[in-house]
Amino acid sequence: MSEHSFGLRLFGKTIPLYVQILIALVLAVVLGVALGAGNPSPAAAEFAKDLAIPCNLVLKALRALATPLILLAVLHAFLTAEIPGTAGRRLVWLLVSNTTVAILIGLLIANLLQPGTWGQVSPPTAAEASLVKPFDPWGLLQDTIPDAVLKPLVDNNVIQLIVLALGFGIALRGLKSEQVKHGRSAYLPLEQTITLLFEAVIRILQWVIMLVPIAVFGIVAQTIALKGFEPFKALGAFVLAVLLALSLQACFYLLRVRLGSWVGPGLFLKGGSDAFLTAFSTDSSTATMPVTYRGLLEKIGLRESSASLGALVGSNFNNDGTALYEAMSALFIAQVIGLHLPIDKQLIVVLTSIFASVGAAGIPEAGLVTMTLVFTAVGLPTQYIAILLTVDWFLDRSRTVINVMGDMTVSCLLDGREPKVTPELFLEEALATEVD
Ligand code: ASP
Repeated sequence: MSEHSFGLRLFGKTIPLYVQILIALVLAVVLGVALGAGNPSPAAAEFAKDLAIPCNLVLKALRALATPLILLAVLHAFLTAEIPGTAGRRLVWLLVSNTTVAILIGLLIANLLQPGTWGQVSPPTAAEASLVKPFDPWGLLQDTIPDAVLKPLVDNNVIQLIVLALGFGIALRGLKSEQVKHGRSAYLPLEQTITLLFEAVIRILQWVIMLVPIAVFGIVAQTIALKGFEPFKALGAFVLAVLLALSLQACFYLLRVRLGSWVGPGLFLKGGSDAFLTAFSTDSSTATMPVTYRGLLEKIGLRESSASLGALVGSNFNNDGTALYEAMSALFIAQVIGLHLPIDKQLIVVLTSIFASVGAAGIPEAGLVTMTLVFTAVGLPTQYIAILLTVDWFLDRSRTVINVMGDMTVSCLLDGREPKVTPELFLEEALATEVD
């Protein structure tokens, strides 16, 4: 999905989404100030209340799309990705360990810097506070299996949904392999249907995202009108905290690549530079995939098998930047509304963020969609995600770069400590032995 698919055409020119959001922000500040900037008259306050309607609609649509998006993304990845049996386990280990580190870095920074306390919005109402339920590990374990197959889709339960998607994904993949072995192709119509439905959900998501500038305009104007600029102080701190955490994750990748593969950090950064720029500008790790793959193969010189496993499979399942962001967002919103998330709750954030990032497709704003599920799991009110809409266009680009860097890291680690022997190298070595 390209940047231009979100563009608005005006006077023959396409205005990219981020420009639309910036314009919406400026207009919202003007309206918010005109309505009283924290000190509204009763009539202005009444008017400001309705400004949240577009934002509520967008959030509702995102919540509704989250479950089909995750289910179809996982099924689609299982049916179409090429994973040789032996590399599968190593790949899973690399993916899970990288993602866990990303989330832990995110939580560490969010706990240390407490960006949500830099500007208190308002204390939670009794109803909001009661949403954070006590931790119950056995209940959580029992809750992983849904009562009925369709229930996770209706309840927006991310853990149950992923269990369901993985179950069906593994089963379908096994059936496909058996059929391919026997020269049968009965699986094809289902594979095509899943691909088509997946693309349809992405297309609907595109339409919803086209409304984000209007939603941002309404919610920012309303917040400024009713509460002034105080809530945005915390948001600035949040942006800085996320950028810091993403940078630390990048350092972790460089270290891991340095220690676990033959690729040096300089070569890694140089070989990946095209992919990083593409990721930042397209906002999509899937759209960046061909560039990532070419960089790994041609600029860094990895073996084809490692490049394709990391880039092609990784871009379906591996979204470390997204996982880090979802965990930080949950903590940030809890801090903003003054709710304490104890360590056991944060463990649920770790777990659900891993699942949510596996289910997040490599497309713009997918992280925002699956975030609703993380919030639901720890009992945080999802309407606060609206606050994040204002900065998500920028943070999404930044975390997409880390998602791509994560895929490249996995490829390098799969390639091992010995570079592949190219024909030229082989000739050089052979000549050297002959001279000896
Ligand atoms: N935009 C990200 C990607 O394409 C996904 C996300 O929204 O976090 O990788």
